[in-house]
Amino acid sequence: MTFQDGGRFGGGRVRSQRGGGRGPGGRGGGRRGGAVGGGVGVIVVLIGYLVFGQDLSPVVDGLSSGGGTVGGAAQEQLLGECTAEQANTTRECRLVATVDANDTYWGEVLPSLGVGYVEPDVVEFTGGVDTGCGAASSATGPFYCPADQTVYLDLGFYDDLQGRFGASGGSLAQIYVLSHEFGHHIEQLTGLMDAAQRGGTGPESDSVRIELTADCLAGMLVGHLASTVDPDTGVTYLEPITEQELADALSAASAVGDDRIQAQATGTVNPEAWTHGSSEQRQRWFTVGYTGGSFDECNALDAAEL
Ligand SMILES: [Zn+2]
Repeated sequence: MTFQDGGRFGGGRVRSQRGGGRGPGGRGGGRRGGAVGGGVGVIVVLIGYLVFGQDLSPVVDGLSSGGGTVGGAAQEQLLGECTAEQANTTRECRLVATVDANDTYWGEVLPSLGVGYVEPDVVEFTGGVDTGCGAASSATGPFYCPADQTVYLDLGFYDDLQGRFGASGGSLAQIYVLSHEFGHHIEQLTGLMDAAQRGGTGPESDSVRIELTADCLAGMLVGHLASTVDPDTGVTYLEPITEQELADALSAASAVGDDRIQAQATGTVNPEAWTHGSSEQRQRWFTVGYTGGSFDECNALDAAEL
């Protein structure tokens, strides 16, 4: 058990779009079964620099590949209310509960920084999805679109994280992944996203700094979930986090490190191509937030050392 007995998490908050992007060559919703394709992830950015003079492209964390077809109609519904028991046993309810927890936590923390909290939209999808940053497929992996302030996630990514990228799995790893995307939303609300030059790559690039900040903000959130009380139920979100659960979250952070992914894909490591940071950096910045780091301490954009 991870979510505390007695917890209930709001229905109607998360949009579910299943079956988008079906068509010739598309993988439809088949990814849930763990199928993994080859090729290049598809993300088409329709608006951005040319129109607004600022980078409105999505912050893609998918590292993933596969030839999903973009576009096509999806059935949309809102995910319903979940109990803690359901959040501990199903991905959909864990998603709903994690969104609820992020809303509560950041709704308390951001005003203390002088920033109003605005809930992001959250869409879980299979196949393809149309976004304010353009059309994307499941192959894109989890991402945040600043233009429509929405987190997009195919829950099948968790299979890839464990199967392809070698993370140990576990519920706290899933909470980390979603909360990292919320971290990008917090960056958007606080102005860090706009302050970053997101086009570059390399170990000192703003791209990496934005990712390490999101890891740290996810760590902040996770570190407070056993003490943050859901105002709707009076129950804390999580039971005290176990060493194994923490190890799972760190394993996920390590699995999505650029060096590890590069080594797996090509057998070599090229830091100049990094966009998310090394395995060591991602674990370390998560830990900074998890062990009580403040928002300012999580700000890797202005950090002297990464
Ligand atoms: Zn990210």
